[in-house]
Amino acid sequence: MKAHDGMYIDGAWRPAAGRDTIEVVNPADEQVIAHVPAGTAEDVDAAVRAARAALPGWAATAPAERAARIAALRDVLAARKDEIAGTVTAELGAPLSFSQSVHVGLPVRVAGSYAELAASYAFEERIGNSTVYAEPVGVVGAITPWNYPLHQIVAKVAPALAAGCTIVLKPAEDTPLTAQLFAEAVHEAGVPAGVFNLVTGLGPVAGQALAGHDGVDLVSFTGSTAVGKRIGATAGAAVKRVALELGGKSANVILPGADLARAVAVGVASVMGNSGQTCSALTRMLVHTSQYDEAVALAAEAAGKYGDRIGPLVNAGQQARVRGYIEKGVEEGARLVAGGPDAPREKGCYVSPTVFADVTPEMTIAQEEIFGPVLSILRYEDEDDALRIANGTVYGLAGAVWAADDATAAAFARRMDTGQVDINGGRFNPLAPFGGYKQSGVGRELGPHGLAEYLQTKSLQF
Ligand code: NAP
Ligand code: MG
Repeated sequence: MKAHDGMYIDGAWRPAAGRDTIEVVNPADEQVIAHVPAGTAEDVDAAVRAARAALPGWAATAPAERAARIAALRDVLAARKDEIAGTVTAELGAPLSFSQSVHVGLPVRVAGSYAELAASYAFEERIGNSTVYAEPVGVVGAITPWNYPLHQIVAKVAPALAAGCTIVLKPAEDTPLTAQLFAEAVHEAGVPAGVFNLVTGLGPVAGQALAGHDGVDLVSFTGSTAVGKRIGATAGAAVKRVALELGGKSANVILPGADLARAVAVGVASVMGNSGQTCSALTRMLVHTSQYDEAVALAAEAAGKYGDRIGPLVNAGQQARVRGYIEKGVEEGARLVAGGPDAPREKGCYVSPTVFADVTPEMTIAQEEIFGPVLSILRYEDEDDALRIANGTVYGLAGAVWAADDATAAAFARRMDTGQVDINGGRFNPLAPFGGYKQSGVGRELGPHGLAEYLQTKSLQF
C-alpha cells in the first residue's frame, strides 16, 4: 500500500530524524503491507515548533475562514472515501462495507458539524460589565488509538481547528496509513502550513515525547485507561490541560416490559460490530430473572449468525488477549452459549463471536474491558439490583436502557453513572457530548461540548 516515508510537518512531508520504521500489518492475513517512520523526540520537537509558530496566525483567523477550511477538509475526505475505506480495511481489518459506512461516513459527518459550528459558535459573550472571549487553548498534542482510526483523529482535529488551535498528531502504530491520508486531506483542503502536523511512531517514544513536551498546551488522548492515567499525571505535573477518552464496560439494561428481541439484537450488534473493538460497546447485558433464559437463547442465536461477517481483531496481540479473557470466563464459571476461545480460522487475527451466560458481577469478564466480540449476560432480581450491577465497575462511558416506555427507561438512565445512554434504541448522535464518568475519562468530544474543550476564556471588564 501507498505510504509516506516522512513526517508531515509545517506543510510538507519531511524526512524523519531517525531511521527506524514501523511495519504495518493486515490482520486479515498477517501480511506486511507498508512501512512508516518511527518518530523520535526530535521529530516531535520539530512538529511542536511548527505548530507553535503557526499558532498566532491561525488563532487570529476569522471563524468563517476556519469554517471554510474545515468544510474543504470534509469535502476532500468525502471525495476520497473509497481510498480511505480501503486503507482502514487493510490496516484495521474491518469489513469494507463497515469501513465505508462507519469508519469514513462518521468522520465526514463530524467534520461537517465542525464546519458549521466554527461559523456559528459564540466566541464572544457579554456577562454584566464584562465581555468574555473564548480563545484557543494553544498547541494541541493529539494521541489516538486504532479502533476508529479516522473518527478519533477527526473528533480531535476538527474542533481544534474550529477553536483556532494548532495540532501535532501521534496516531496509533497499528493504523498510521489512515493518518497519512488524513494529513494529505488537510493539505489539499488548504489548511496553512504548521497548523496540522503528523508524527507517526510508537506510544512510549513519540507519544510520550508529545505528552510531555513543554510546547504543548493541551493533551487530548484516546486509548486505554492505563496509558491515560500516565498521561493525566504528566499533564497534571506541568499544569497542562488534558482530555482523556478511555475504556468502557457499558451496560445494556433490559427492564421488564421492553421489546426483548430488539433489545437483545441491538446489544449483540453493538458488541460484534468492529469485532468488539468499540469503547462504548454494550458488553454487559442485564436481564430480569423472569426473561433471562429467553434473552440468552436470542443472544446465542444472533451471535451465531455473525459467523463469517465479522472481521479480525487489529493484531495478534489483541487476538491473544481476547482469547485469554474467554478462557478466564470459562475458568471462573461462566457458561459459553456461543463461540469460545478457539481461533475460528487458521490465518488472520480472528476471534469467534462469543456469548457468556450465568455471568456474575464480580467475574473478570464482567469487570474488565475485553475489546473483542465477547458479550456477558447477567441476571438481576429487581431494579435496584440492576442499577447496582450497571454502576458496579470502574468505568462509566456509555449504556442503554430498554423499558415499556421512554419515561421509565429515562428515569433509570438518570441514576446511571455514565456519560451517554441510549433510550429504547436511540440512535448515535454525532452532536451529543461523548465522554466518560469515573475512570472512562475526563472531558467530552463532539458537538459544541467538544469544541469547548479546545477553548479557554478571557474576560475584559468595562
Ligand atoms: P493505548 O495503548 O492506550 O494507545 C492509544 C494511543 O496512545 C496510541 O497512539 C498509543 O501508541 C499511544 N501510547 C501508548 N503508550 C503511550 C505512552 N506511554 N505515552 C503516550 N502515548 C502512548 O490503547 P490502544 O490499545 O491503542 O486502544 C484500545 C483502548 O483504547 C481500549 O481500552 C479502548 O476502550 C480505548 N478507547 C477509548 C475510547 C473512548 O472514546 N473512550 C475510544 C477508543 C478506544 P501505540 O499505538 O504505539 O501503542
Ligand atoms: Mg497500544
